[in-house]
Amino acid sequence: MAIIDAKKITYAYTSESSISPALCGITLAVRKGEFVAVIGHNGSGKSTLAKHINALFVPDTGDVMINGMDTKDESRIWDIRRCAGMVFQNPDNQLVATIVEEDVAFGPENIGVPPKQIRERVDKALQQVNMSAYADRAPHMLSGGQKQRVAIAGVLAMQPDIIVFDEPTAMLDPEGRQEVLATIDELHKSGKTIVLITHYMEEALLADRVVVMTGGRITAQGKPREVFADQQALSEAGLGAPPHIALYHRLIKKGYNMDACPLTTQELVEKICQLS
Ligand code: ADP
Ligand code: MG
Repeated sequence: MAIIDAKKITYAYTSESSISPALCGITLAVRKGEFVAVIGHNGSGKSTLAKHINALFVPDTGDVMINGMDTKDESRIWDIRRCAGMVFQNPDNQLVATIVEEDVAFGPENIGVPPKQIRERVDKALQQVNMSAYADRAPHMLSGGQKQRVAIAGVLAMQPDIIVFDEPTAMLDPEGRQEVLATIDELHKSGKTIVLITHYMEEALLADRVVVMTGGRITAQGKPREVFADQQALSEAGLGAPPHIALYHRLIKKGYNMDACPLTTQELVEKICQLS
């Protein structure tokens, strides 16, 4: 059974926009432990889809099942939100307390987790994002990447099975982006189901599967290597391939014979070195 199972969902923000809804028939199944990256131009419906995964929105038509729970079933809404945590773009909007560990404890406190367990959850969550050394610091003194990792710890303390990241690195400097990506990769390895919305193509390379959205629809999907090799699908979605993949395509066009699309710059360099 898929842990995220969206079937033919449509969603319009207002009745006027129902002519061209934000989502127009999305079907997406994500299995437990899978890492799915969602890419697409601004306005393609990525955030609207994300909000369907933790029942912030329910579809106008179609169904979203999260770990077997229907997001339309109001009696399950808190179970669904516990199962599917969300991390947003701006860490400043997600941090609520004046001390890091209090911030991480906020979620579990709110749902009445006993104090001893809260302590354990907070310690573990801070460890998972590599921020234990900052437990007693003030969040506003941290770098963007560190703040985002504290926000992720806050979500982890709720022990979700799924974490949806909506452009979590968009406001970070390169170092912060690297830290957050490494954290996401670790969480995937620890067995969490990950949905990463991003418009940085290189970030999508980390995923098991890339889903491309265009105008409220899924217009391409597959392994990163397959999707990034499909230049037509990318350009129809208004996206460009990462630079090393763009270079690979140009070399092919020039008649160089290289097999599979390289996932990393390193792979491309190796392929070029093999050209005779
Ligand atoms: P993305 O995250 O891919 O940039 P969104 O899901 O935010 O896309 O938006 C999808 C579509 O829904 C866009 O056309 C956008 O203008 C519209 N939209 C998003 N939020 C709202 C809103 N609060 N009210 C009305 N329309 C919205
Ligand atoms: Mg968005």
